[in-house]
Amino acid sequence: MERNISTDAVVIANTRSGERNREISLFSPDYGVMRVLVYGGQKSHKASCPPLFSIGKFFLTSNPLRNSYSFNDVKYIPLCPFDFTLKQIGIASFICELGKEVGESDHISTYRLISTALILLSASSDLIRENSILIQFVWQLMKSAGLVSDLNRCPVCGTEYSGTQFLFYSNAVNFFCCQRCTEERALFIGPGAQRYLSLTLEMELLDAVEVPLNEATANRLRRLMIAYSMNVCGRKLKTVQSGLV
Ligand SMILES: [Zn+2]
Repeated sequence: MERNISTDAVVIANTRSGERNREISLFSPDYGVMRVLVYGGQKSHKASCPPLFSIGKFFLTSNPLRNSYSFNDVKYIPLCPFDFTLKQIGIASFICELGKEVGESDHISTYRLISTALILLSASSDLIRENSILIQFVWQLMKSAGLVSDLNRCPVCGTEYSGTQFLFYSNAVNFFCCQRCTEERALFIGPGAQRYLSLTLEMELLDAVEVPLNEATANRLRRLMIAYSMNVCGRKLKTVQSGLV
């Protein structure tokens, strides 16, 4: 039996579906990932299909028999991000892909993180800030998925860190640990990055992106967070493989 529903959501994918229609994927705090058919969305007038990365209240028809939804209408939020630069599109696509992969356990936090990150991104005009948004999105998402331990002691042997050592990512524990507890050396963080990640771990995304980073550290941490994300997912991410991010 069909019924009408409404939910806040962000558009995390937008693809063609057959000759005339489009299919969008939404991430909603109420339902998680939803696949929604937009009938006639292929038509040229733009208003017919909500664009990628747009955020708003969506009015849908649910069809439980087909386990699908169809799109009726949307009311965009006031700060809805519509215009992105190419660089921002890369980061925004990565954010949506990772949110979908890692964030299914806590829909409310994941929705808040994706929508906040996209709004911040669209308002940003500088590269360091855009990298901070990516770094902090990954870090806060991993925290809300329960994958982050504190960075003051080794999660394997319990030894408290001195604050001057390097920590290495271990695939056995899916996190950073002391050098004695893993042979792996591919991904590591130095003392400066450790302090930054420790400090921002207790913050909300909005505040964490305000913590200053210099360009070199922002670039390093960006590469680290992308590699860390792929380790957690256990596979290559499409946005990374395609060179978008
Ligand atoms: Zn250890």
